[in-house]
Amino acid sequence: MDCVICGGNAKIVTEQKQARYRGEVVEVTQELYRCESCQEGFVTPEQAGNHVRAVKNEIRKKYGLLSPERIVEIRNKLGLTQAQLEELLNTGSKVVVRWESGKVIQGDSHDTVLRLLEKWPSELEHVRQIQKLRSQEQREYETRARGRAACVA
Ligand SMILES: [Zn+2]
Repeated sequence: MDCVICGGNAKIVTEQKQARYRGEVVEVTQELYRCESCQEGFVTPEQAGNHVRAVKNEIRKKYGLLSPERIVEIRNKLGLTQAQLEELLNTGSKVVVRWESGKVIQGDSHDTVLRLLEKWPSELEHVRQIQKLRSQEQREYETRARGRAACVA
């Protein structure tokens, strides 16, 4: 690839880099282009995306959180789609999708539930019951809220 600065020859290299994520510093290996003439370094959008994921993976390791690959494994073991797991954990839409692509790091509580279900998959039924109870409580709240609105009107 031609160097974006001087037009010289740029080669793919891998370098150890310190990266910062929400105040945490981690060290990751980054793939990038480095110019043989001016030594300038630059990345393609794909390399930039890989770097961001690598930094988040390192943060996951540092905090003892599941890797995206293991989240996929656990979900498959449970026989759930991404949308079904999102509903089960009440995460909102596309959140599991982002955990699995490495774009978003799951919180500690979700990580705990995932590990629980990995070790004791039969607990899925109990988590389902909790989700049902939660939906029921939400519906009851909405019904009461509508009732109050009717009284005011
Ligand atoms: Zn150059």
